[in-house]
Amino acid sequence: MSTHDLGLSGDEVKALDRAHVFHSWSAQATLDPMAIERGEGSYVWDYDGNRYLDFGSQLVNVNIGHQHPKLVAAIQDQAARMCTIAPAVANDVRSEAARRISDVAPEKLTKVFFTNGGAEANEYAIRLAKGHTGRPKILTTYRSYHGATTGAIGLTGEPRRWANEPVTHGTVHFWGPYPYRSQFHSDSPEQETERALQHLRDVVMVEGPQTIAAIMLETVVGTNGVLVPPPGYLAGVREICDEHGIVMIADEVMSGFGRCGQWFAIDAWDVAPDLISFAKGVNSGYVPLGGVVIHEDIAASYDEKPFPGGLTYSGHPLACASAVASMRIFEEEEILGHVRRMAQDVYEPRLRELADRHPSVGDVRGIGAFWALELVRDRDTREPLVPFNATGADAAPMAQFAAACKQRGLLPFTHFNRTHVVPPCTTTRDEALEGIAILDEALKVADEHY
Ligand code: PLP
Repeated sequence: MSTHDLGLSGDEVKALDRAHVFHSWSAQATLDPMAIERGEGSYVWDYDGNRYLDFGSQLVNVNIGHQHPKLVAAIQDQAARMCTIAPAVANDVRSEAARRISDVAPEKLTKVFFTNGGAEANEYAIRLAKGHTGRPKILTTYRSYHGATTGAIGLTGEPRRWANEPVTHGTVHFWGPYPYRSQFHSDSPEQETERALQHLRDVVMVEGPQTIAAIMLETVVGTNGVLVPPPGYLAGVREICDEHGIVMIADEVMSGFGRCGQWFAIDAWDVAPDLISFAKGVNSGYVPLGGVVIHEDIAASYDEKPFPGGLTYSGHPLACASAVASMRIFEEEEILGHVRRMAQDVYEPRLRELADRHPSVGDVRGIGAFWALELVRDRDTREPLVPFNATGADAAPMAQFAAACKQRGLLPFTHFNRTHVVPPCTTTRDEALEGIAILDEALKVADEHY
């Protein structure tokens, strides 16, 4: 059956995996990972030749789709020329990647520090903010995910932090807006903005503004619900930061590079943060890459004193070549415009139709190619289909829903009581409709628990 270079069947790959691969976030003995052999565009194939529509873009990173031939060629060309080079030297693709990224960032964010992924990007963002301000504390939201390194898991405001505590001191969490399950008992998005900003002001005052280096937030909260900020919220955070000399950090690891129909999601709200962390979509993860785009004033604090940090693979040539190629392809194929059109013509209307047909769909929300269906047992009480942080038998209804998707050839992205619709930014109208039709069928499983 196998067409794999190593000549292994899917079952052999799984057996080898079980014997030797230690996986993220999982109880190792109960794990049964799917064996995926290859991909193309919006699809992946297992070792038995079964095709699946990748509605999660793996971990919401394959924005350009799988195996884009021009992106693969760019990596091959760079590999033939120069695979690796130390971070302290100058190199053409590194400089060009930094130029292109800062060119699409808000004005005055003119420099880029490259990392290997999103967690490291956030680690460096807070180091830059603390170094610039000389202040010790960072404020981040509950319901956020900022990565799994020791510092980044401490910034994270959701249950994956628990098992890693105690984490590095100096992080304080606050509530961000979430109109569907408002912490502030708001009746409208406008009220949610007003109350969430008042709450943040209160937290800043009781923590002591002079102790706060940065407020970090995901522009659109990703894994924890695709929480699109209500009108005025991000501008309000900017104002609070300006008032107290606090650095505003936008974590755009998931929301950036096309996911929201913009280079940076925050462009949709016309707000300029001081630091933007990125990874994932910058080159769709073809080679690991992340980084921080830095405001010129923060970069200037290291003009005379040395920046205390570094990484052997900062600005890795293969990663940078793929970022340059990916951004070029996005322009040539007008992918940002495609995402915005898809949101308007397909994702929003068709997903709302699912809510009309399925009582278990309590809320539909999103932007660009970044959507969530929140599944409930009761629309009036909004009781989630599975409890918050459910595992094992408690999580069974969502596991059944995911299995029903997979049986029909769709890989969904599910988290607690939500399924996220986050296909590649290049997914076509027909592919998206195929996926939504599968969701339509699979949601019958969720409706049975209603
Ligand atoms: N920040 C956000 C918003 C993310 O969604 C993620 C990963 O999902 C990270 C940071 C961590 O990125 P990485 O897994 O590349 O370290």
